[in-house]
Amino acid sequence: MKKVVILGGGFSGISVANKLAMKTKRKDVGIVLIEPRDHLVYEPQLLFWAFKNYPLSKFTKPVTKVLNPRVTWIQTKATKIDDTQRAVELSNGETIYYDYLIIATGASMEEDKIGATHDDNVHHFYLPKATEELQKSLSNFEGGTILISPTTIPFKCPPAPNEFAFLLDNYLRKRGIRDKTKIKFLYPLLRAYPVPSVAEKIQELYEKRGIEFVEFFNFESVDKDNKKVISLEGDEFEYDMLVLVPPHEGQEVIKNSGLGDREGFVHTDRFTLKVKEKENIYAIGDCTDLPVSKSGAVSHFSSGTLVKNILSEIKGKSANHKYNGKTICFVVTSFRRSLLLDFSYNYPPRRYGIHNSFIYGLFKKVFKIAFFQVLVKGYM
Ligand SMILES: Cc1cc2nc3c(=O)[nH]c(=O)nc-3n(C[C@H](O)[C@H](O)[C@H](O)COP(=O)(O)OP(=O)(O)OC[C@H]3O[C@@H](n4cnc5c(N)ncnc54)[C@H](O)[C@@H]3O)c2cc1C
Repeated sequence: MKKVVILGGGFSGISVANKLAMKTKRKDVGIVLIEPRDHLVYEPQLLFWAFKNYPLSKFTKPVTKVLNPRVTWIQTKATKIDDTQRAVELSNGETIYYDYLIIATGASMEEDKIGATHDDNVHHFYLPKATEELQKSLSNFEGGTILISPTTIPFKCPPAPNEFAFLLDNYLRKRGIRDKTKIKFLYPLLRAYPVPSVAEKIQELYEKRGIEFVEFFNFESVDKDNKKVISLEGDEFEYDMLVLVPPHEGQEVIKNSGLGDREGFVHTDRFTLKVKEKENIYAIGDCTDLPVSKSGAVSHFSSGTLVKNILSEIKGKSANHKYNGKTICFVVTSFRRSLLLDFSYNYPPRRYGIHNSFIYGLFKKVFKIAFFQVLVKGYM
């Protein structure tokens, strides 16, 4: 019997565990999931939750409800991986041994590195607690200047700050205080999104909606006493509310185990999803250094390749299935409309999706149901 150990039970870890459970027999493959949290969050909903108060339970599910009963879940953290012994040290003091290891530990939100989180005027929407605070501040907001900016690159869901700007514009109009508010989108590039064709569309919509785009802003720090955000180049902008994307890094366990780059993202082969220069270790999702977006869609489209490669290795064959970088991503432009980006390692976003569509907006809305009922369960 082979033992597959999965570190991290976010979308990547749970969907891979469920796929493996469906494709193998109990007597042949044992599957163990190491995950400290007892709930899975549908993160795309955080963006919408920032603007409307409803129970978190509407977009979270207990791990026990989404995990295949064949998978053994140990509710603890991994602290160190020793690939020479094929062992993982856990924070409960135990050591677990593996035949195959899957790293799916996601990205760590380094809120403290902003130096101003949980301040009344400095917010983000990347974790539930922070989003709840943002929600409260927004509902008390009566006008002024709101700045939106990433702090570092890469970050999860590259269009999320653009989407936040669009939803904020909608929200303020509904509340009748849009004319009392300036929205400025600060971004490190010379365009408002990394892909030129998408940036062009976003900037066209920004112009129509009166969202000011500030190019080449590389975040450095926040002066919370004077309510200013400062760039590496020395530019300063005053705010009444500042909404940042928090710095993203790999998890401690990756840094402690020498498996990552400078930021702690796992060195991963972009085609096979094997951890570079290591035997029997794979990585998936936001924890990797893959040259694609950190998104649930990437996890979904790459999980089939990862599972096929592990199953091949278990059968004594080589791991030669390849992920082609395929992903699909919505860019919400209002509470009703969205763009749809469809791209891969081999082609940039297809033109057909770069228009502001009510249909794509509808797809985005119903996606939450598919997420918990189909994708997390590993049916696709
Ligand atoms: C606001 C927002 C909007 C988004 N919108 C979209 C979207 O529209 N479309 C899209 O495709 N994606 C979107 N994403 C991104 C998507 O949610 C993530 O890319 C996806 O959830 C990544 O899953 P993951 O399992 O790789 O990482 P995570 O979900 O971060 O899961 C990692 C898990 O590992 C666990 N872990 C961490 N350290 C350890 C350890 N030492 N030992 C054991 N376990 C550990 C954590 O507890 C966590 O449960 C969005 C994200 C945000 C924040």
